[in-house]
Amino acid sequence: MKSEISTPLIGYMKQLESEGITDIETIAEHLYDHHTRQIGLGLYSNGRYTQSGSDVQTNVISDANTPAKECILWCINHYLGLNRNQKIIDKVCQAVQEYGTGCGTSALSGGMSKLHKQVEQKLKDLVGKESVLLFPTGYTTNMGCLAALPGKNDLVIFDRESHASLIDGVKLSGKKWISFKHNDLEDLDKKLEKYNKKYENIFVVVESAYSMSGDLAPLKEITELKQKHKFLIYVDEAHTFGFYGKNGAGYCNELGITEQVDFIVATLSKATASIGGFVATKAKYIPLLQWRANTYTFQACLPPGDAAAVLGCLEEIENNPQLVESLHENNRYMREKLTHLGFDLGSSQSPIIPVFIEDKDKLLSFNRELFERGIFSVSIFYPVVKLSEGRIRFILSASHTKEQIDKTVDALYQLAIKHEIFDSAIYPVWQ
Ligand code: PMP
Repeated sequence: MKSEISTPLIGYMKQLESEGITDIETIAEHLYDHHTRQIGLGLYSNGRYTQSGSDVQTNVISDANTPAKECILWCINHYLGLNRNQKIIDKVCQAVQEYGTGCGTSALSGGMSKLHKQVEQKLKDLVGKESVLLFPTGYTTNMGCLAALPGKNDLVIFDRESHASLIDGVKLSGKKWISFKHNDLEDLDKKLEKYNKKYENIFVVVESAYSMSGDLAPLKEITELKQKHKFLIYVDEAHTFGFYGKNGAGYCNELGITEQVDFIVATLSKATASIGGFVATKAKYIPLLQWRANTYTFQACLPPGDAAAVLGCLEEIENNPQLVESLHENNRYMREKLTHLGFDLGSSQSPIIPVFIEDKDKLLSFNRELFERGIFSVSIFYPVVKLSEGRIRFILSASHTKEQIDKTVDALYQLAIKHEIFDSAIYPVWQ
């Protein structure tokens, strides 16, 4: 029943269960003690919060008894920094004056406003599909759509690194599912070959960019498999919508495969600094989704102020292409610096940079020491990644400055040497 201090909470829960402890009250007490110990030692990065909302540099509070610390933030998905754009904030205030705060009910029960319809229209024109359905969050877009779409005799095949919302949706559908090896075309091809004749339809579910590894999916090649096998493709563009493709239309748009992808989904909480999600697809699927996706049918619409924020962000992305360019430039700059210093960035490419630290004790101390130097990111471990893995993730924003990147890289380098993170074969080259 003893746990290492670095054991992730859910990993510890599994350990307790494997030791025969199944009573949830006992488990909760063990987890509570474990959690309290981690907090006491300053090893728990997931409980920190900002003093006045997210920004690339702001005051961060660890606990109510410790003064706030000014930090550079690397854990927020506001890729374009539009949450702090004054023009958009003004539009949101104006929309709240005009439309009020919440919507009070779901779309099918009268919760939609003209503003929501404008968002759907704008997204439809941008993404280039026949229809768009707006959901209250990205999470519930995936949960609802994937619970609704597979038919009785269908199979879902999803990438093994898929986000929890995709997996929850597939499980909720109650239909058959299997996974394929992350970004592995050969494995997907083999599985399509094996199962094609056994099922009426196969849904292949992938993300355009994976949030924990920062790698892009081989989407073009996946769509090309349609020449060999019959299947439908569902792509979650959470980490590409707004900053890939024309006017931020997404990675499918950038690759010219919008037509071949059957369902394009994205969240509106990241590049478009709001809340909400959408699915863009053929018009024929809309009534099916409206009435079979419970998260659409039975969930209140996103508030009008958030709908106004989405419209404001999309307009800004269209009018100010420099914004997207700054994000990609920051990504190139930070990557080059880290790679030059010998950091292993895995196969990441998108504006998400994972720094891999397998040893959990090192990972937690490393992150705490980064925080002490005014750099805030969260440690990533099980169940977000495999039990054997750990990493610190840096999410870039167009608003990060070169000085903030330099300061962060410098701190990473010094701590990597201190904690012996580098592969010894590489490190001496830079001595
Ligand atoms: N899909 C992916 C790939 C995500 O990374 C996330 C959020 N991290 C979501 C869906 C859910 O989006 P939201 O948090 O806006 O509901």
